[in-house]
Amino acid sequence: MLAKALTIAGFDASGGAGIQADLKTFSALGCYGMSVLTALPIQNTCGVSNCYSIPLTAIEEQLDSIFSDITPDVIKIGMLFNSEIVNLVAQYLKQNAKGIPVVVDPVMVAKSGDMLLLPEAVSTLKEKILPLATVVTPNTDEAEVLFGHKINTQEAMLDAARQILETGVEAVFLKGGHMEGGMCQDLLFTEDKYQWFISRRIKSKNTHGTGCTLSAAIASGLARGDSLVTSCSNAKEYITQAILSFQYEAIGKGHGPVNH
Ligand code: PLP
Repeated sequence: MLAKALTIAGFDASGGAGIQADLKTFSALGCYGMSVLTALPIQNTCGVSNCYSIPLTAIEEQLDSIFSDITPDVIKIGMLFNSEIVNLVAQYLKQNAKGIPVVVDPVMVAKSGDMLLLPEAVSTLKEKILPLATVVTPNTDEAEVLFGHKINTQEAMLDAARQILETGVEAVFLKGGHMEGGMCQDLLFTEDKYQWFISRRIKSKNTHGTGCTLSAAIASGLARGDSLVTSCSNAKEYITQAILSFQYEAIGKGHGPVNH
Protein backbone atom coordinates (compact mmCIF):
# COMPACT_ATOMS: atom_id res chain seq x y z
CA MET A 1 0.00 0.00 0.00
CA LEU A 2 1.28 3.43 -0.94
CA ALA A 3 2.26 5.48 2.12
CA LYS A 4 0.46 8.83 2.30
CA ALA A 5 2.23 11.91 3.65
CA LEU A 6 0.63 15.27 4.42
CA THR A 7 2.56 18.50 4.82
CA ILE A 8 1.02 21.50 6.57
CA ALA A 9 3.36 24.30 5.55
CA GLY A 10 4.14 27.46 3.59
CA PHE A 11 4.59 28.08 -0.14
CA ASP A 12 7.69 28.64 -2.24
CA ALA A 13 6.89 29.66 -5.80
CA SER A 14 10.60 29.29 -6.69
CA GLY A 15 10.31 25.58 -5.89
CA GLY A 16 13.12 25.04 -3.38
CA ALA A 17 11.49 25.11 0.06
CA GLY A 18 8.11 24.78 1.79
CA ILE A 19 5.40 22.52 0.41
CA GLN A 20 7.16 22.34 -2.94
CA ALA A 21 10.28 20.78 -1.35
CA ASP A 22 8.12 18.53 0.80
CA LEU A 23 6.08 17.17 -2.11
CA LYS A 24 9.20 16.54 -4.22
CA THR A 25 10.81 14.71 -1.29
CA PHE A 26 7.71 12.60 -0.56
CA SER A 27 7.54 11.64 -4.18
CA ALA A 28 11.26 10.84 -4.49
CA LEU A 29 11.01 8.62 -1.42
CA GLY A 30 8.02 6.64 -2.63
CA CYS A 31 5.18 8.37 -0.76
CA TYR A 32 1.96 9.91 -2.02
CA GLY A 33 2.20 13.57 -1.05
CA MET A 34 -0.56 15.98 0.01
CA SER A 35 -0.36 19.57 1.23
CA VAL A 36 -2.30 22.09 3.27
CA LEU A 37 -1.13 25.67 2.75
CA THR A 38 -0.70 27.93 5.79
CA ALA A 39 1.14 30.94 4.40
CA LEU A 40 2.21 32.49 1.14
CA PRO A 41 5.67 34.05 1.34
CA ILE A 42 6.61 35.89 -1.84
CA GLN A 43 10.08 34.48 -2.33
CA ASN A 44 12.80 33.26 -4.63
CA THR A 45 16.37 32.09 -4.09
CA CYS A 46 17.34 35.62 -2.97
CA GLY A 47 14.84 35.96 -0.15
CA VAL A 48 11.31 36.80 0.93
CA SER A 49 9.87 40.17 -0.11
CA ASN A 50 6.45 39.82 1.51
CA CYS A 51 4.35 37.25 3.31
CA TYR A 52 0.58 36.66 3.36
CA SER A 53 -1.09 34.36 5.86
CA ILE A 54 -3.86 32.11 4.59
CA PRO A 55 -7.21 32.86 6.33
CA LEU A 56 -7.88 30.50 9.24
CA THR A 57 -11.15 29.30 7.74
CA ALA A 58 -9.35 28.40 4.51
CA ILE A 59 -6.73 26.39 6.43
CA GLU A 60 -9.43 24.57 8.36
CA GLU A 61 -11.40 23.84 5.19
CA GLN A 62 -8.29 22.39 3.54
CA LEU A 63 -7.69 20.16 6.59
CA ASP A 64 -11.34 19.04 6.63
CA SER A 65 -11.21 18.30 2.95
CA ILE A 66 -8.17 16.02 3.34
CA PHE A 67 -9.15 14.32 6.59
CA SER A 68 -12.69 13.56 5.39
CA ASP A 69 -11.25 11.74 2.40
CA ILE A 70 -7.69 10.45 2.89
CA THR A 71 -6.07 9.45 6.19
CA PRO A 72 -2.38 10.37 6.13
CA ASP A 73 0.23 7.92 7.44
CA VAL A 74 2.35 10.84 8.59
CA ILE A 75 1.96 14.58 9.05
CA LYS A 76 4.79 17.01 8.57
CA ILE A 77 4.42 20.52 9.96
CA GLY A 78 6.50 23.34 8.50
CA MET A 79 5.92 27.10 8.41
CA LEU A 80 2.99 28.22 10.59
CA PHE A 81 3.72 31.97 10.53
CA ASN A 82 1.55 33.34 13.38
CA SER A 83 0.05 32.23 16.68
CA GLU A 84 -3.51 31.98 15.31
CA ILE A 85 -2.34 29.44 12.71
CA VAL A 86 -0.26 27.58 15.32
CA ASN A 87 -3.32 27.34 17.59
CA LEU A 88 -5.62 26.22 14.80
CA VAL A 89 -3.28 23.48 13.56
CA ALA A 90 -2.57 22.26 17.11
CA GLN A 91 -6.28 22.07 17.96
CA TYR A 92 -7.10 20.35 14.67
CA LEU A 93 -4.41 17.70 15.04
CA LYS A 94 -5.35 17.03 18.65
CA GLN A 95 -8.90 16.26 17.57
CA ASN A 96 -8.30 14.53 14.25
CA ALA A 97 -4.84 13.01 14.05
CA LYS A 98 -4.57 10.65 17.01
CA GLY A 99 -2.04 7.89 16.36
CA ILE A 100 -0.55 9.54 13.27
CA PRO A 101 3.18 10.34 13.58
CA VAL A 102 3.89 14.08 13.44
CA VAL A 103 7.22 15.54 12.29
CA VAL A 104 7.62 19.18 13.29
CA ASP A 105 10.13 21.42 11.56
CA PRO A 106 10.04 24.51 13.81
CA VAL A 107 10.56 26.91 10.90
CA MET A 108 11.44 30.39 12.19
CA VAL A 109 13.84 32.34 9.98
CA ALA A 110 14.85 31.74 6.34
CA LYS A 111 18.54 31.58 5.34
CA SER A 112 18.01 35.02 3.84
CA GLY A 113 17.18 36.29 7.36
CA ASP A 114 13.47 36.75 6.70
CA MET A 115 10.98 35.86 9.46
CA LEU A 116 8.81 32.83 8.71
CA LEU A 117 7.36 32.64 12.24
CA LEU A 118 6.43 35.85 14.01
CA PRO A 119 8.24 36.20 17.37
CA GLU A 120 4.88 36.35 19.18
CA ALA A 121 4.16 32.79 17.97
CA VAL A 122 7.27 31.06 19.37
CA SER A 123 5.81 30.35 22.82
CA THR A 124 2.55 29.06 21.29
CA LEU A 125 4.54 26.74 19.02
CA LYS A 126 6.43 25.46 22.05
CA GLU A 127 3.35 24.95 24.19
CA LYS A 128 0.82 23.71 21.64
CA ILE A 129 2.65 22.05 18.74
CA LEU A 130 5.76 20.45 20.27
CA PRO A 131 3.79 18.19 22.67
CA LEU A 132 2.09 16.67 19.60
CA ALA A 133 5.37 15.86 17.86
CA THR A 134 6.87 12.43 17.32
CA VAL A 135 10.06 14.26 16.41
CA VAL A 136 11.02 17.93 16.16
CA THR A 137 13.86 18.96 13.82
CA PRO A 138 15.36 22.33 14.85
CA ASN A 139 18.65 23.65 13.53
CA THR A 140 20.90 25.12 16.22
CA ASP A 141 19.55 28.67 15.64
CA GLU A 142 15.97 27.46 16.19
CA ALA A 143 17.04 25.33 19.15
CA GLU A 144 18.68 28.39 20.73
CA VAL A 145 15.33 30.20 20.54
CA LEU A 146 13.50 27.19 22.01
CA PHE A 147 16.18 26.47 24.61
CA GLY A 148 17.38 29.96 25.44
CA HIS A 149 21.17 29.41 25.34
CA LYS A 150 23.96 29.58 22.79
CA ILE A 151 24.76 26.22 21.18
CA ASN A 152 28.31 25.81 19.89
CA THR A 153 29.53 22.46 21.20
CA GLN A 154 28.32 18.86 21.19
CA GLU A 155 27.74 19.19 24.95
CA ALA A 156 25.51 22.24 24.39
CA MET A 157 23.59 20.32 21.72
CA LEU A 158 22.94 17.51 24.22
CA ASP A 159 21.77 20.04 26.85
CA ALA A 160 19.48 21.77 24.37
CA ALA A 161 17.98 18.49 23.17
CA ARG A 162 17.36 17.39 26.76
CA GLN A 163 15.61 20.68 27.48
CA ILE A 164 13.52 20.61 24.29
CA LEU A 165 12.41 17.06 25.16
CA GLU A 166 10.78 18.51 28.27
CA THR A 167 8.22 20.31 26.09
CA GLY A 168 6.64 16.88 25.56
CA VAL A 169 8.07 15.88 22.16
CA GLU A 170 8.99 12.21 21.83
CA ALA A 171 12.33 12.90 20.11
CA VAL A 172 14.56 15.74 18.98
CA PHE A 173 16.61 15.66 15.78
CA LEU A 174 18.94 18.61 16.34
CA LYS A 175 20.78 19.70 13.19
CA GLY A 176 24.32 20.94 13.71
CA GLY A 177 24.92 22.20 10.16
CA HIS A 178 24.78 25.89 11.19
CA MET A 179 27.68 25.40 13.63
CA GLU A 180 31.31 26.06 12.66
CA GLY A 181 33.59 23.24 11.55
CA GLY A 182 34.35 20.83 8.76
CA MET A 183 31.79 18.25 9.85
CA CYS A 184 27.99 18.45 10.19
CA GLN A 185 26.93 16.78 13.41
CA ASP A 186 23.26 16.00 13.86
CA LEU A 187 21.87 14.55 17.06
CA LEU A 188 18.87 12.27 17.52
CA PHE A 189 17.84 12.47 21.16
CA THR A 190 15.09 10.52 22.90
CA GLU A 191 14.29 9.93 26.55
CA ASP A 192 16.54 6.93 26.98
CA LYS A 193 19.21 7.26 24.30
CA TYR A 194 20.91 9.42 21.74
CA GLN A 195 22.81 8.95 18.52
CA TRP A 196 25.04 11.20 16.40
CA PHE A 197 24.84 11.37 12.61
CA ILE A 198 28.04 12.89 11.29
CA SER A 199 28.88 13.85 7.73
CA ARG A 200 31.49 15.93 5.96
CA ARG A 201 30.43 19.55 5.35
CA ILE A 202 29.64 20.15 1.66
CA LYS A 203 30.63 23.57 0.40
CA SER A 204 27.64 24.80 -1.63
CA LYS A 205 25.55 27.94 -1.87
CA ASN A 206 22.59 25.80 -2.93
CA THR A 207 21.08 25.11 0.48
CA HIS A 208 17.65 26.70 0.13
CA GLY A 209 15.05 24.33 1.56
CA THR A 210 17.47 21.88 3.20
CA GLY A 211 15.55 21.92 6.49
CA CYS A 212 12.21 21.33 4.75
CA THR A 213 13.72 18.51 2.71
CA LEU A 214 15.30 16.75 5.68
CA SER A 215 12.13 16.81 7.77
CA ALA A 216 10.03 15.66 4.80
CA ALA A 217 12.49 12.80 4.28
CA ILE A 218 12.17 11.74 7.95
CA ALA A 219 8.38 11.92 7.55
CA SER A 220 8.56 9.72 4.43
CA GLY A 221 10.41 7.01 6.36
CA LEU A 222 7.89 7.08 9.20
CA ALA A 223 5.00 6.96 6.71
CA ARG A 224 6.48 3.80 5.20
CA GLY A 225 6.72 2.22 8.66
CA ASP A 226 10.48 2.60 9.24
CA SER A 227 11.71 3.18 12.79
CA LEU A 228 12.66 6.70 13.85
CA VAL A 229 16.39 5.85 13.80
CA THR A 230 16.19 4.35 10.31
CA SER A 231 14.06 7.28 9.07
CA CYS A 232 16.59 9.81 10.41
CA SER A 233 19.58 7.91 9.09
CA ASN A 234 18.06 7.57 5.60
CA ALA A 235 16.93 11.23 5.66
CA LYS A 236 20.46 12.37 6.49
CA GLU A 237 21.77 10.33 3.56
CA TYR A 238 19.03 11.77 1.29
CA ILE A 239 19.78 15.40 2.14
CA THR A 240 23.53 14.82 1.81
CA GLN A 241 23.09 13.40 -1.70
CA ALA A 242 20.54 16.13 -2.58
CA ILE A 243 23.06 18.86 -1.66
CA LEU A 244 25.99 17.07 -3.34
CA SER A 245 24.26 16.55 -6.65
CA PHE A 246 23.33 20.28 -6.99
CA GLN A 247 26.61 21.55 -5.53
CA TYR A 248 27.65 23.18 -8.81
CA GLU A 249 24.17 23.87 -10.23
CA ALA A 250 23.15 27.47 -10.94
CA ILE A 251 19.45 27.95 -10.25
CA GLY A 252 18.62 31.54 -9.32
CA LYS A 253 20.84 34.37 -8.17
CA GLY A 254 20.87 33.54 -4.45
CA HIS A 255 20.82 30.33 -2.43
CA GLY A 256 19.64 27.80 -4.98
CA PRO A 257 17.71 24.62 -4.14
CA VAL A 258 18.93 21.07 -3.59
CA ASN A 259 18.18 18.20 -5.97
CA HIS A 260 15.38 15.67 -5.48
N1 PLP B 1 9.94 29.11 2.69
C1 PLP B 1 9.22 28.25 3.35
C2 PLP B 1 7.78 28.15 3.03
C3 PLP B 1 9.82 27.44 4.33
O1 PLP B 1 9.09 26.55 5.01
C4 PLP B 1 11.20 27.58 4.59
C5 PLP B 1 11.93 26.79 5.58
O2 PLP B 1 11.51 25.95 6.25
C6 PLP B 1 11.91 28.51 3.88
C7 PLP B 1 11.26 29.25 2.94
C8 PLP B 1 13.34 28.78 4.16
O3 PLP B 1 14.17 27.97 3.53
P1 PLP B 1 15.71 28.20 3.71
O4 PLP B 1 15.95 28.78 5.05
O5 PLP B 1 16.24 26.82 3.60
O6 PLP B 1 16.14 29.07 2.60
